[in-house]
Amino acid sequence: MPDELLERLRRFHDHAFPLQRQHFQLLVDDGQHPTTLFIGCSDSRLVPYLLTGTGPGELFLVRNVGAFVPPYDGSAGFHGTAAAIEFAVLSLQVVRIVVCGHSHCGGIRALYGEVPAAAKNLAQWLEFGREAVLPVAEPGPEVLRRTEQRAVVLQLERLMDYPMVRERVEAGQLSLHGWHYVIEDGEVHVFDVQRGEFVAASHAEHAGTGPYHRYEEPAAPGAADAPQTEGA
Ligand SMILES: [Zn+2]
Repeated sequence: MPDELLERLRRFHDHAFPLQRQHFQLLVDDGQHPTTLFIGCSDSRLVPYLLTGTGPGELFLVRNVGAFVPPYDGSAGFHGTAAAIEFAVLSLQVVRIVVCGHSHCGGIRALYGEVPAAAKNLAQWLEFGREAVLPVAEPGPEVLRRTEQRAVVLQLERLMDYPMVRERVEAGQLSLHGWHYVIEDGEVHVFDVQRGEFVAASHAEHAGTGPYHRYEEPAAPGAADAPQTEGA
């Protein structure tokens, strides 16, 4: 029986890799210097490299069910996503953090239903999106979409509880980007804190920002408002 996965590995090594050999060698010699931490849902239809036109070495990628950010303080246990955030900010010194949810998200839908009894970790994990849930018994497509978007904003707010994130955001060294990717349209909607809504990238003025950072810093000294400390 042919081993399809093995075939794919060989094809990569023999055909795809040679085209990028020098690039990978450079990334080995110089190390990785990605400037963006991308926290995305694990959904197979969300392909960060395609969306952003990036390649090897450009995205520090964390994916999990729902694109959730666990609390910094460890009160909900210790999670790989939290470790990755700390590493990306403190060691890699990324200048952007993207949180990317998407349409038809099974993780968000599960917040309105039940998960299999054996899925103990999943049930706990989904709680990181609980506050985004709207008070309806049977969510329709619009409610689900709003919940997906609210969940993104919730994660941005939780990111600001990470001291190293807050410090850099307030210093203007790090920007937060909330995205909602609509699979069937191939379009990312970016969270615009000043409008308080998600805006299609085709109409947006910038790639989105979290609730705590003005994307265009005022130039005049003293003109800057204190960063908001409450969520949008
Ligand atoms: Zn999802």
